[in-house]
Amino acid sequence: MPRMPVFFLAHGSPMNALEDNYFVADWHQLHKNTPTPSAIVVFSAHWHVAGTRITANQNPPTIHDFGGFPPALFAQQYPCPGSPRLAAELADSLKSQGIDAQLDEQWGLDHGSWVILKHLYPAANIPVLQISLDATQHDLHAHHAIGQALKAYREQGVLFIGSGNIVHNIPKWFQSRPGDPIDWAVDFDQAIATAIEQRDIQQLANYQNLAHAQDAVPTVEHYLPLLYVMGLSDKSDTLQFSDFGFKDLSTACSRSLRFG
Ligand code: ZN
Repeated sequence: MPRMPVFFLAHGSPMNALEDNYFVADWHQLHKNTPTPSAIVVFSAHWHVAGTRITANQNPPTIHDFGGFPPALFAQQYPCPGSPRLAAELADSLKSQGIDAQLDEQWGLDHGSWVILKHLYPAANIPVLQISLDATQHDLHAHHAIGQALKAYREQGVLFIGSGNIVHNIPKWFQSRPGDPIDWAVDFDQAIATAIEQRDIQQLANYQNLAHAQDAVPTVEHYLPLLYVMGLSDKSDTLQFSDFGFKDLSTACSRSLRFG
């Protein structure tokens, strides 16, 4: 079984499910030459709750966790199987390493998962699980530790995806006009990219100390999946960033990456 890569994918707008734009092109580009996984585990920005929960449904429902989008988006389904067996194994692994984890049959796949998976795995025939981002852990090293605790599953064909956005400020995004300065987003994104390259977990866990952090990360949930991805990766992994340009605020929010 080949060691699987790990991805942090910028998911952007839910409309990316229906579009073929630079977000989607970046996912495809990074995803090239990925062995077929035995299962996919997603850390989605849109499941930020108290505790570490693991979806354990046999058939996880497609959750349309947004409003104000066209009916065509609400009609989307991603009818993949789950894997209660893998969910139980992951929970046991975490518990054996001192991390509390609960199985969950209420959640399913939110749009942080299926918007991406519809493009990368359109057949929906590979089991998919989600693991929640623990909203009670304010020291971000705890999120990194959960990634580390699950790293061995990469050797078993499990593909881990962190789905969020490094820069994510919806009000600024909606208000942005062509030609508006985006230096704040570019500066923050590049400082994070440097910390990723240097594997500087201390810096990544304390992103608030970086310039423009308040504007780039007004709320933490879209940033958090990156910490899990860092924990799942190590120095032996090659690092590849998506090839995007800072054309406007939207592109400045679109950095995706692959380890391994
Ligand atoms: Zn989102």
